[in-house]
Amino acid sequence: MNKISVIVPCFNEEEVLPLFYQQVKQTLERIKNITYEILFIDDGSSDHTKDFLRILCNQDQHCEFVSFSRNFGKEAAMFAGLKKANGDYVVIMDADLQHPPYLLKEMYHAVNQEGYDCCAGKRVDRTGEGKLRNFLSHSFYKIMQKICKMDMSDGAGDFRMMSRQMVNAILELKEYNRYMKGLFSFVGFDTKWIEYHNVARAAGHSKWNFRQLFSYALEGMFSFSTAPVVWIGNIGCMIMIISIVIILFGLVFHTSQFFKLVCLILFLSGLQMLFVAIIGQYTTKDYLESKQRPIYIVKETSKNLTQ
Ligand code: UDP
Ligand code: MG
Repeated sequence: MNKISVIVPCFNEEEVLPLFYQQVKQTLERIKNITYEILFIDDGSSDHTKDFLRILCNQDQHCEFVSFSRNFGKEAAMFAGLKKANGDYVVIMDADLQHPPYLLKEMYHAVNQEGYDCCAGKRVDRTGEGKLRNFLSHSFYKIMQKICKMDMSDGAGDFRMMSRQMVNAILELKEYNRYMKGLFSFVGFDTKWIEYHNVARAAGHSKWNFRQLFSYALEGMFSFSTAPVVWIGNIGCMIMIISIVIILFGLVFHTSQFFKLVCLILFLSGLQMLFVAIIGQYTTKDYLESKQRPIYIVKETSKNLTQ
């Protein structure tokens, strides 16, 4: 009998967890010839998420939890879940029911019967999300698509069921700066996509603000693309040519030397600062990797959870 592990990263999700548990359990019970575990990763919640999980895991032997010592972020929570899960197939799902549980059955069929290594949900719209966030996310994925060699399309999130082989491949990637959408794409394997419509959160509110989303976007870009460094080179060459033209122009038409100089200095120094910042991004990534800090720190786990 195959075992399905469902990984659920939770950060302050007390409002939605009871409903999530009820719906996901019901769906899993209906899939024939499987056993399952639901593995909640409490990512340093400050509400009653952990209290709820403690009680739930005592009552239901299918449920386990890991609780972090602080908020390490969803990427760390997903990594911890993948490490602790011992199922033949592993699914990652958001706690807010934005990843529809009814797709689990179809996903299981795809990986168990149709020979796929992975079956992933693809959100075809962004109903229920703000217009500005919608626009910015969409633009980000468009840029990523252009500058990365890997397939990271809009709507292709973390909601997916993977074979044990694929999970093990992802666990081999031990980098500190994690961007799961990129890692899924990096490891490859045959993926079936099933489309679904976005729904608003069942309860609670989104844990991301614009600042976090922006730095997450940069994380994705700097972790998976070195294109900005190439841009720097190209822009640098262009600037050199332009400045030579300006100087020649000044020599021919006798404009005020001071004006020319100030324009040039301001322009070039601004540009240099920008370039140094971009190069700095890559260097700091390397700096964090070289420290080999743990990706997360566990404070508490449910009783049955070993490893
Ligand atoms: N999450 C997490 N740690 C964080 C932020 C979010 O574990 O620091 C979890 C959250 O509890 C939820 C999932 O990641 O289960 C997606 O978060 P959210 O719904 O806030 O993101 P959105 O759907 O708005 O992108
Ligand atoms: Mg959500």
